[in-house]
Amino acid sequence: MDDTTARDILGIGPHATREEARTAYKRRAKILHPDRHAHGSQADLRAAERAMAELTDALHALRFDAAKRTSDAQQATHRVWTGDRYVDVPRDRPRRPRHRGCEVCGHTPAMWIDIRALNGLIILHRTDRYAATLCRNCGTAIWRDVQAQTLTLGWWGIPALFANLAVLVNNRGYGAALRELDPPHARAAGSPAPRSEPMPLTKPVTARVLPWLATATVVIIIVLLVAAAMQARG
Ligand SMILES: [Zn+2]
Repeated sequence: MDDTTARDILGIGPHATREEARTAYKRRAKILHPDRHAHGSQADLRAAERAMAELTDALHALRFDAAKRTSDAQQATHRVWTGDRYVDVPRDRPRRPRHRGCEVCGHTPAMWIDIRALNGLIILHRTDRYAATLCRNCGTAIWRDVQAQTLTLGWWGIPALFANLAVLVNNRGYGAALRELDPPHARAAGSPAPRSEPMPLTKPVTARVLPWLATATVVIIIVLLVAAAMQARG
């Protein structure tokens, strides 16, 4: 795999650092990981596995070659004779096409979402971030799973409790924006997205048992604690 292809797959520019490449890898791996696509058909799962393998290959194929970067920078301008002197004019370098479509299926329209799931660990908590440009179907499928996960696991700890409220407010905004987005209608030409069709929709969060059971349990615990505190005082 050549360097340009690797950078395209990772969605990074020609001057991205090793650290930026690793961040881009992690962000895309979250969205493309086969676990995320386990609801779909066998073909979907294979496409996700292929995409993950390609992403990993891309990270390993990257070269961070200082000499190459210097020559790129030199090519950014060229010298033009104006009649009485030379001036350096910025060269109109071809820009890497930005992926306009969904990062999972390549369809448009797509929007940037940045949602989180919290995992409360009594004292600490861990945040899983899912950030990508997605169409309405892929975005909603991932949003539902992430929202269900944080409603189930995000409450368990005093700091986590408050952090989870903030996470839910953040996710809710993106959920509303996704609902307003037009349905995916066509695949953007030349999209490197691994799926040919948008992701199938999974169960709505309101139709799942665990998120509500966990949330109701937390609410009951808080009510009992407040009642006990009031009784102890009065
Ligand atoms: Zn999509």
